[in-house]
Amino acid sequence: MVIGAGQAGLSSAYHLRGAGLDHVVLDANPAPGGAWQHRWPTLRMATVHGIFDLPGMHFDPPALDAPAFTAVPAYFAAFEHRFGLDVQRPVRVSSVSSLPDERLLVATSQGTWHARALINATGTWTRPFRPYYPGAETFRGWQPHTADYRGPAAFTGRRVVVVGGGTSAVQTLLEIAEVTASTTWVTRRPPVFVEGPFDQEYGRAAVAKVEDRVKAGLPPRSVVSVTDLPWTPAMAEARARGILVRRPMFSRILPDGVSWPDGAFEPADIILWATGFRAALDHLAPLRLRTPGGGIVMDGTRVAADARIHLVGYGPSASTVGANRAGRAAVREIRELLEARTAAGA
Ligand code: FAD
Repeated sequence: MVIGAGQAGLSSAYHLRGAGLDHVVLDANPAPGGAWQHRWPTLRMATVHGIFDLPGMHFDPPALDAPAFTAVPAYFAAFEHRFGLDVQRPVRVSSVSSLPDERLLVATSQGTWHARALINATGTWTRPFRPYYPGAETFRGWQPHTADYRGPAAFTGRRVVVVGGGTSAVQTLLEIAEVTASTTWVTRRPPVFVEGPFDQEYGRAAVAKVEDRVKAGLPPRSVVSVTDLPWTPAMAEARARGILVRRPMFSRILPDGVSWPDGAFEPADIILWATGFRAALDHLAPLRLRTPGGGIVMDGTRVAADARIHLVGYGPSASTVGANRAGRAAVREIRELLEARTAAGA
């Protein structure tokens, strides 16, 4: 069984099919595309980091200015069709638990399934992360997260503080700065900009940064969060206009703005939290996979404490390039596990 039909789940399903293993893919979304169908409409193929091909089918975006939220889902839909993948949707998995006979019981919005092994590929989009700062509940304005962002129109004429040091923060900042009354950018650490191509090699280096954390059972930081910011001509222009100037993180939220420890104050109508996402794993809680440190100890894609469970698109494989590799590796190990169980008569 595969849960999730984004890049990670589809890559896994492709390899399961190739290995001749019976499986089904359950996905909560109403249509193909994984989280890409929810990306903001102004995110274009020209401004995404780079979507690596799913196995066995090249992605040829219709145009550089095509919105990612339609172009990528169309590619995923064509992929599902070409390889005849059995994706059941919309089916939301509410819990996965262990039966005495070692099978897994998968409870969903559309009934229950049984599985001998599970590839979990549920991504992060449904778990936006918003750090707490004192006074957050007193703020009289609007506090959207990146996941709520639908384009700059809602920010017109408003005073906006954008929080976050990643690509999403910078992209939204550049868009809304064209229409806001004022825009302030705050990050915890000074952002690191890089020049040069954002290619597979660069993606692999970002992946390696996350790998050590999950081996130790710590909650992963996302690959996207450890990716430096690719420096673009649009950014250079924005900095020249005084837009891309970062201030350190504020320490307190007040009803009408934010303040710093030295007493500085910035009035705000909107605080936009571009502060990332966490792994959407609540449905696995009955399996008790988490360590006291809050993470899950992993050996590659396999949960170290339960060989039936693989997390693909988790930690180091939470990018389009990582998810592909992880899907293949997970299927190889699951095939070996099931063959060993069959040989043992289990
Ligand atoms: P998703 O695409 O999120 O798919 C998960 C699927 O699981 C969803 O369809 C969801 O409905 C389903 N699901 C979740 N919970 C359940 C449940 N309980 N029951 C059933 N189904 C469930 N990476 C790149 O490599 N390049 C980029 O350019 C890039 N840009 C990004 C831009 C943004 C704004 C963000 C947030 C991330 C970006 N990433 C990028 C990282 C990106 O998230 C991954 O690359 C990849 O798309 C994640 O794929 P996935 O299959 O793990 O998850």
